[in-house]
Amino acid sequence: MERTDEVLAHAAAARGFMPPDEGRALYDHAAATAEAATVDGPDGPWLEVGSYCGKSACYLGAAAQTAGCILYALDHHRGSEENQAGWEHHEPDLVDPELGRMDTLPTFRRTIHDAGLEGTVVAVVGDSQAVAAAWSTPLSLLFIDGGHGAEPAHLDYEGWVPHLAVGGTLLIHDVFDDPADGGRPPYEIWCRAVGSGAFAEVDAVGSLRVLRRTGPGT
Ligand code: SAH
Ligand code: MG
Repeated sequence: MERTDEVLAHAAAARGFMPPDEGRALYDHAAATAEAATVDGPDGPWLEVGSYCGKSACYLGAAAQTAGCILYALDHHRGSEENQAGWEHHEPDLVDPELGRMDTLPTFRRTIHDAGLEGTVVAVVGDSQAVAAAWSTPLSLLFIDGGHGAEPAHLDYEGWVPHLAVGGTLLIHDVFDDPADGGRPPYEIWCRAVGSGAFAEVDAVGSLRVLRRTGPGT
């Protein structure tokens, strides 16, 4: 337990976009997924889309490490639209000065190292759609927090949800019921999951939505 608290403290201190209560919920549902795997749940690896500087990977990684599970942390590390210069979530010190492009990979590596998660969190550096197209291992947990534009969000849904095993956990971030609170695409893909008949709603904490796959289909 001490070790878990240590990792969760690193998660709380890490840079990124994950409020403490939603981060805690990420950890709790990941731990529950690991627990279910010891009974009748799927026991495949976990994957997050959209790692940025590694904050959510620490919350999920805390549960993965205890369970002896692998978390693939996928990101091209060039930032989403909203992370680019001139946009709301831009952090200028994360720009590679020679390239003039975002590069969150060095910070991500440092975060994962400092949290003691290098044996648990495996970085996958590349475009989500390209990796999804070549992926074949069934996942027992999928966390979608990548690009929030209409195209990337729906591509993440279409590319990754088919890889989630029956009984697995789907977590979607930045889902806002009220359009005044934030962009629509994460909400739209959550609606797709709920409307597909293949998922049961499990929990909602802030903008985090948690679903369980109850059957095949997307
Ligand atoms: N989960 C993070 C925040 C993620 S921000 C946290 O806890 O702080 C969204 C991330 O998605 C950005 O780092 C961006 O580079 C990544 N991203 C956006 N579109 C992507 C794509 N098509 N392929 C891979 N990564 C992408
Ligand atoms: Mg988010």
